[in-house]
This record gives sequence, C-alpha cells and structure tokens, in this order.
Amino acid sequence: MLSRRKLLKRLGALPLVGGLMGSGISVSSAMAANTEVAPKRNLVQELGLRSFVNAAGTYTAMTASLMPKEVMEAINYASRHYVMLDEVQDKVGERIAALCHAEAATVTAGCWSAMVLGTAGVLTGKDRDKIRQLPNLEGMKSEVIVQKSHNVGYVHAITNTGVKVVEVETAAEVDRAVNDKTAMMWFLNYQAPDGKINHEEWVALGKKHGIPTMIDMAADVPPVENLWKYNDMGFDLVCVSGGKAIKGPQSAGILMGRKDLIEAARLSAPPRGGTIGRGMKVNKEEILGMYVALDEYIKKDHDKEWKEWEEKVAYVAGEVEKIDGVTTDVSVPPIANHTPYLKISWDDSIQLTREQMQEKLRLGEPSIEVISGGDQAISMTVFMLRPKEEKIVAKRIVEELRIAKV
Ligand SMILES: *Cc1c(COP(=O)(O)O)cnc(C)c1O
Repeated sequence: MLSRRKLLKRLGALPLVGGLMGSGISVSSAMAANTEVAPKRNLVQELGLRSFVNAAGTYTAMTASLMPKEVMEAINYASRHYVMLDEVQDKVGERIAALCHAEAATVTAGCWSAMVLGTAGVLTGKDRDKIRQLPNLEGMKSEVIVQKSHNVGYVHAITNTGVKVVEVETAAEVDRAVNDKTAMMWFLNYQAPDGKINHEEWVALGKKHGIPTMIDMAADVPPVENLWKYNDMGFDLVCVSGGKAIKGPQSAGILMGRKDLIEAARLSAPPRGGTIGRGMKVNKEEILGMYVALDEYIKKDHDKEWKEWEEKVAYVAGEVEKIDGVTTDVSVPPIANHTPYLKISWDDSIQLTREQMQEKLRLGEPSIEVISGGDQAISMTVFMLRPKEEKIVAKRIVEELRIAKV
C-alpha cells in the first residue's frame, strides 16, 4: 500500500470537500443509484456526507471496500444472538485456518492489530506476567530483524510492543544480527522486490536460527492463492487485512500461522484486559462477517472477475481515447492491489491539470474518486466499482476532457 503521505499526494488536496456540502449538490445520488430499496434513513443526506464512486482503490481513508450482501447478512444475523467471544473466535479461527492452510488463525482488528498481537504472542508466549508487563520488555527478547527496504511506517505495528528494529540488507547480516535478544524476523510483502533477501530465504534464515518469521501481506490479494502461499512457504505468522479486496469489515483482519503463537497472541486480545491488545476488540459481527467475507472471496470465480475488470478498463479506455490528445495505458502492480490500473493521459491541447481533473470529478454529479497518474494524467481502478459505474466514470471523464479541449 501507499504511504499516507504518498496517498495524500495522489488523492490531491481535499479542500473543496467542505464546499461541496454547502453547494446544494445532491450528494446521495451516487449511493442511491446502487441501493435496491430506499433506506429508511438516508444518513449520507442527513449528515451532509459526500458519498462517491470509488475508482481509486481500497484506500483506508476512503473506507476501503463495500461489504457484499452475504457479509451484511452474517453481520445482521450475529447482531441478534449472544455468543461467547472466545468461542466464536475458536470456531471461526478453525475454519479460517483450514481455508488458508494454517495451523491456527484468529480474527483481529485489522492487519495492523494482527501484527501487534502476533508480535506480542512471540514475545510473551503464554506467560501471564509477561503479557501484563508489555510493552515493558524486561526479561523478554527485544529485537526484531527487518530488511532496510521493508522498514517503512507499517513497522510501527511491531514496535508498538516495545521492541527495537534491527535493520539488515543481506543474509550474512542476518546471521550477524541474530543474538539472544532476537525475537522475530518481519517481512513486508509488497517491498519484496526492493529487498535483497527473498521470501524463501527469509523463512530459511528464520528456521536456521530458530527465530519466528512474520509476513505483512495486508493488501496482497488478489491473487487468492496468496492466502495460503505464505503459510505453505513456512512463515510462522501471516497477517492480512479483512476490509480491502476481501471485502470484509474494514476494521477486521486475520492473524494466522503456528498454533502456539496464535494461542499466545490471543492472550493479549479481548476479552482479556490488562493487555496491550485490549483496545483491539473485534465484535462477533465483525468476526462472523470476516469469516463469511473470506469464504465468499475464496469461492468466487476469480478468472471471471478478472475478465470483468479487464472489460471495464477497456470500456473506459475506449471511451476516453475517442478524444484527440488522450492516451491510455493499462498496467497491473505485481504485488499489492494486484488489479488492472488504467492510466489516462492528455496532451497540451487539453487545458487541465491533474489536480483540476480530480477536483472536477470529485465535485461532479455523482462525485468520483480517482488517483493521480502524473502531471497531466489520472489513474483509476475498477475493482471497487459497483455494477455499471464504469459507464458513469467514463462519461464524466470524457465530459471534463471535452470541456477543457482547446
Ligand atoms: C492496509 C495495510 C496495513 C494495515 O491494515 P489494516 O487492516 O488497515 O489494519 C498494514 N500493512 C500494509 C502493507 C497495508 O497495506
């Protein structure tokens, strides 16, 4: 995923959002267009919120993804029944583990919380005193080895537990860095191409030194196989976001891997209190919603869905290319948000900056979010669009390009 700074840069400034609310533009139509039954209470309207067509992607700031009907049914169902929190975690954990080839699994409050709890489990084991003591590491291991290129903002999830990051670049440096304070070796999947040590070597180094390995693959489905690939490869802990492409609750995620470590991690999580994880609560609705989202995600026809994405991208490209001076380019990031991206660029015969284009789409009817593609270019995805929204997106982009054509 993008860093927050890069994301904000790509989104462009948002100063006009406030202005929109007072502008009298109906902000609810984008949402209404896809609502089967009129809501009893139109909260977008009631609160003066801006709802939009998401042609950007699974950005946390944009509330990531929309939960499918099956997930909402699970959530509504759960809201009518009491169950014991640990029991629903036990049962759902078993199912998720089986689906993803892991020994054990648990639903967490997002990928971030999976990393905090997983690290806590590695540090404390099942020792109640140590669990209560975190983030004071007295008497515990205190270092986590991370490749230099992987040492970005997300590492804060790990250092939340009190550990210190030890940076390395080569396998020889890992050998030298390991000592009796080394607790874990952390790998950030999307940074793999920038690191000198690949997944398999990282796992092998962990095994050689008897150090547990953890991988952050938060936004790295599709492809669906990634859900079991890193468990099969031998990572001891695998952390995933539930609310990105899997379309579960945005505040849910999955921690999976070695049974002893998952059991230990759960001792820092609710319902237990007096732990660093007490604030990382997931309710039964989110736990069951996460399970159903994952199950539905795994079951769906991924080839068919990919073809639909390609068709939508091709449709938008075809429409905008009808305008002289407009070119398009389709690309797929190899890791993280692995989905077709359409870059739409225009030459100087169209008097419009990228920021102006984003603003016009944002303030239009319906409001549309796309990301930056460069100076005179925007970039967009279709995997978060609701049915037929590619038509709306193409139409609006074409309109603005035509208006700006000199
Ligand atoms: C989104 C993301 C996270 C945080 O995941 P949440 O599910 O929002 O807690 C962590 N790491 C990476 C690489 C991410 O993209």
